[in-house]
Amino acid sequence: MGPAAGTAHLDVQGLTVAFGPILAVKNVSLTVREGETLAVFGANGSGKTTFLKGIAGLLPLAGGRVVYRGEDLSKLPAHERAARGIRYVSDRSRVAVRMTVRENLDAGAWLLHPSRREAARDRVLSLFPVLGEKAGEPAGVLSGGERQMLILGRALIGEPALLLMDEPFLGLSREVRDRFVAVIERTLKGRATILMSEHDAETAFRLLDRHVIFRNGVVVHEGTRGESGDARSLLALLYRHFRPGEDDSPRDERRLRDVSRNREGK
Ligand code: ATP
Repeated sequence: MGPAAGTAHLDVQGLTVAFGPILAVKNVSLTVREGETLAVFGANGSGKTTFLKGIAGLLPLAGGRVVYRGEDLSKLPAHERAARGIRYVSDRSRVAVRMTVRENLDAGAWLLHPSRREAARDRVLSLFPVLGEKAGEPAGVLSGGERQMLILGRALIGEPALLLMDEPFLGLSREVRDRFVAVIERTLKGRATILMSEHDAETAFRLLDRHVIFRNGVVVHEGTRGESGDARSLLALLYRHFRPGEDDSPRDERRLRDVSRNREGK
């Protein structure tokens, strides 16, 4: 089923997350359809990670509800949300360095029936052949890019229905990034619902159906792929929202310049 034909999969209602007196996400509501890919943009500290973690159950809600397939998950712990097919992955996710690559992958397959695990593992290893070559080695020997492949592979092996990806392309070489995009297109696009926090507008544009822009914990812009037109227009839109101001950090402007340079093929 194509994304446009999908039904409401995730209904976030007035989500609020606080760190002590700081409201990091304030009363955010949005609906994501089944099979849709939503990119979440925003300057550093605008609340993207907090928003995704609130949905995953990794941070407690100060207000609002997370309704998934019609069920209110707001009071459920993260592992029970995971049992319903929700996965959060981040470049800050850890791999178990002393366990083998294969064992790390298997850790993501706990929800699959044991008879299906081997085939699922083989499928993921075929998506990332370099992991296949190192399947019996400790994950500690992997490079940074390979570790990110393992983190994504560990999520994919469990066949997630809702994947929350926090900056999935951060720090990846162009080659690994392209591989990630291809894997996501091949295995997830239109099948799983994806929320993807990202700074790299060009790469995100290859995958997104819709986007939102966060600023200071609220959504300040929502748009569809068609409304953006192309990656360049989306980048221009982000520049307008991220333009220097008291709430923007220099790091973020640098990142956007990097995106621009990548786009020019440098
Ligand atoms: P980045 O792009 O840098 O990852 P972000 O948009 O994901 O940023 P968050 O990490 O969600 O932003 O942070 C939102 C706000 O919450 C920021 O003001 C941040 O300083 C604050 N914050 C995040 N985590 C904590 C924490 N553990 N304790 C206190 N404040 C926090």
